[in-house]
Amino acid sequence: MKRVLTYIFLAVSAVVAVSSCYKDELSPTSVIMDSVNPETDFDRWLNENFLLPYNINFIYRYEDIESDMEYDLVPADETCARILAKLVKFLWLDPYTEVSNANFMRQNSPRVMPVIGSGAYNTNNTLTLGTAEGGLKITFYVTNWLVSRNYITINYDNGVDETEGYSVTINSMDDINFYFLHTAHHEFGHILNQNKAYPTDFNLISQDQYVAQWNTLSDSEALQMGFISAYASSQPGEDFVEILSYYITSSDEEWNARLDVAGTSGADIIERKLNIVKNYMADSWNIDLDELRSVLARRYEEVESIDWSDF
Ligand SMILES: [Zn+2]
Repeated sequence: MKRVLTYIFLAVSAVVAVSSCYKDELSPTSVIMDSVNPETDFDRWLNENFLLPYNINFIYRYEDIESDMEYDLVPADETCARILAKLVKFLWLDPYTEVSNANFMRQNSPRVMPVIGSGAYNTNNTLTLGTAEGGLKITFYVTNWLVSRNYITINYDNGVDETEGYSVTINSMDDINFYFLHTAHHEFGHILNQNKAYPTDFNLISQDQYVAQWNTLSDSEALQMGFISAYASSQPGEDFVEILSYYITSSDEEWNARLDVAGTSGADIIERKLNIVKNYMADSWNIDLDELRSVLARRYEEVESIDWSDF
């Protein structure tokens, strides 16, 4: 059985971030690119920056996408897909390479990365932001929100054909971080756990506290119980990757603000979990989580310097 691990956002709430995992089979549908599509500059960039270094097939053409037929989904806008590809490379793939080696991501990254324009809305008022399947595939949703929700503004130069270049102004790095990068690091945490299991000691820390109705908890309530987010309280595997993702994508200020809300006992539990996560990353993957976090913090400051106009 291949596992599908999902990251879901509670659609009815602006403040509660939640997610869910379930089991399913990896789709048998072919992901081979449709030959009727001429290769574009973006395709060539993807070959050089995703396929060759990381062996990742970044799939943005809807006709090639092995999407989930349970949902009404909208294709990704190509410009949004381009921008997401650069953000994912700069703030997820390359940082891991920077603190480990070129082979780490090549060996452990998902082989297939479909990108969907819309969210995948569930019947329980939640919204799936990402899924990780069988250690091989991570799907991103809501790609078109980059523009439609004004997280970024695309500026085309006067007189320049829009296919030839543009600049990007980032209006809300917090939203980009939450909807895409937190999702990426969360799902990648699942893939690492699928390849090398984490110590079961982790599961004991909050063993009687996990709740099926995680979406009824506020983040504050969850923090005080020793969970870094409401969704972390759903099950130990989610708890583990939520700690991992929140820790490396948060500044000291943001992380400490969560611990302040958690209070002394909640913060103590979260710190104990974080220690296990750090030791797992060091022992199983030879990755210093604090070094990775520092690299990410530096890169968040450098996002504005990304060259958006080379494809
Ligand atoms: Zn998950």
